[in-house]
Amino acid sequence: MATIQTTAIVLRTVEFSETSLIVTLLTRDLGRVSALAKGARRPKGPFEGALDLLAVCRVVVLQKNADVLDLLTEAKLHRRFRGGERSLDRLYAGYHVAEMLRLLTDDQDPHPDLYDLSIQTLEQIDGTGDPASALLYFDAQLLRRLGHAPGTEQCTDCGGHVGDGPRIAFSLLAGGIVCQGCRSRQRQLLSVRAEVIDEIRRLKSDQSSLPVEVPSGLYGELRAVMNRYIQTIVGSMPRMQPFLPASTRTESNA
Ligand SMILES: [Zn+2]
Repeated sequence: MATIQTTAIVLRTVEFSETSLIVTLLTRDLGRVSALAKGARRPKGPFEGALDLLAVCRVVVLQKNADVLDLLTEAKLHRRFRGGERSLDRLYAGYHVAEMLRLLTDDQDPHPDLYDLSIQTLEQIDGTGDPASALLYFDAQLLRRLGHAPGTEQCTDCGGHVGDGPRIAFSLLAGGIVCQGCRSRQRQLLSVRAEVIDEIRRLKSDQSSLPVEVPSGLYGELRAVMNRYIQTIVGSMPRMQPFLPASTRTESNA
């Protein structure tokens, strides 16, 4: 057993008993953690509203042995997620970040860089950044850092050169663009504008940083390619995908 102090983003809370919650956290030092928060449902419990979805807090986790849930013994609210007060787009964008982190990260597999990326993305969504562009950047960076970067350089099947042209074949199962020769072997193929592939390359690059602005003319196709690609990796359609922003720079009021 070890007591660990770290910062965390609340990804989900589930009622466990009349007074307790099971919380899923993305912590900076431990990766994803599921822990029991005793007394969290009592009106004047020890956690004082620190365990709301997407809240950022300072936590103390008591790590138990395998097969037993870790215990959350303290959570001090650092920042509350307020995107939902601004617009539905921002609210759902925040939910998407939480869902992606839940689906794609593993317990006890720390990625401090992913934690920092998530904090920066939530700041964009919560502030004045364009949520649609911020989410595409988040998805591309998350995928790359977890080893799922969509291939945009050479053919992801044979490694050969992919010819220039207005449209490029993108294989969902091979995980990226494919050349003319390999195209016929692919079962799940998208035909994607070359500019969209260029934009994916820019968004996933370790040289790019927030804030980003995705050209509005590329957004719809780019979001659709990323959605299909994420579905292939996850093995199902994430619940928030139908609610993602329909375009850049538009806001529907909550
Ligand atoms: Zn090929």
